[in-house]
Amino acid sequence: MIPYGRQHITEADVDAVIGVLRSDFLTQGPTVPAFEAAVAAACKAQYGVALSSATSALHVACLALGLKAGDRLWTVPNSFVASANCARYCGADVDFVDIDARTWNMSVPALAHKLAQARKANTVPKIVVPVHFSGQPTDQETIWDLAQEYGFKVLEDASHAIGASRSDEPVGSCRWSHATVFSFHPVKIITTCEGGMVLTNDKTLAWRMSLLRSHGITREAAHMTVRTDEGAWYYEQLELGFNYRMTDVHAALGLSQLTRLKNYVERRNVLAKRYDQLLEGFPLQRMTVDEKNYSSYHLYVIRVDVAKAYKSRREVFAALRQRGIGVNVHYMPIHLQPYYRQLGFELGMFPESEKHGAEAITLPLYPELSEAQQDQIVAALHQSLQ
Ligand SMILES: *Cc1c(COP(=O)(O)O)cnc(C)c1O
Repeated sequence: MIPYGRQHITEADVDAVIGVLRSDFLTQGPTVPAFEAAVAAACKAQYGVALSSATSALHVACLALGLKAGDRLWTVPNSFVASANCARYCGADVDFVDIDARTWNMSVPALAHKLAQARKANTVPKIVVPVHFSGQPTDQETIWDLAQEYGFKVLEDASHAIGASRSDEPVGSCRWSHATVFSFHPVKIITTCEGGMVLTNDKTLAWRMSLLRSHGITREAAHMTVRTDEGAWYYEQLELGFNYRMTDVHAALGLSQLTRLKNYVERRNVLAKRYDQLLEGFPLQRMTVDEKNYSSYHLYVIRVDVAKAYKSRREVFAALRQRGIGVNVHYMPIHLQPYYRQLGFELGMFPESEKHGAEAITLPLYPELSEAQQDQIVAALHQSLQ
């Protein structure tokens, strides 16, 4: 089976990990701060806070941005559940903004419309989480203008999009957001096995996120509130935090992987353009990438519209799997998950996301996918559509 995504691990990666295993610190050593600084520099942000996953990164970012019970967070249905769950961890309510029919990212007109209504009902969200679906940046500058107008915070879920850029501005620079989250799960662009990071240009926000990452504990005298003269062992817990730390072993892998970020994204672009050419004329909807965008192509997604293809997604998907192509679906809309239905969401609420969820197939795409394998995938897709 050709998988839909796969990590690429080199001997240099292995050596970097072994180097930390032989060193004095497996966690809370020098490698995590080095990785944070390197990612922040690569993305032109001032601060990076590494965490155990993108999910924990979204959680601490929401807390540090002040999200609490009674508040609202909006995201898109066309994402992984973590984009919405972060609000629930904080006791806040989730609502969704439908996607654009062409880019499959948050529809900015739909966001503007919903905000205007929310202002009248006094239900403007505290945080909006745009998701750079498949690695293509959202219309972030317009979302930022709306944030100024309505006073919400912008938290980019860029789990798919490290290495992407919009108008030459790297995703993660936080030019048009308060904070940006990356995932380093093995199917993503670079990996730390499990891991994530939040980037921000706000020093206080970065400090609060690093506090929440490690139990809410500080060892810095300047932040202490009780006493500061007890000796070097002394620490204070200032609020209720978690153990969401990344280890130095994982950070060493990430630091080594980061040196190949540019190559990985270039290779993904080459393969994606090649898919575009090979699939020309197929009765399928392909991805539309805005000309301002350089996508990181975490995913290559096609859509099977039964009215055009005379085949259902289910049939095409099953035929591809049978031919050894490890296709996948991104995403079943979050609001249709049983957990979210229990909260009152139902079919029909976000029609573009629902249509996408019913038609989408993710084809294999990862740096080591060969042209020959890609030809095999396209041939299998051709047969599956017969
Ligand atoms: C993978 C992913 C996450 C969660 O990442 P983890 O590092 O596995 O916690 C969140 N949001 C999106 C859009 C993702 O694709």
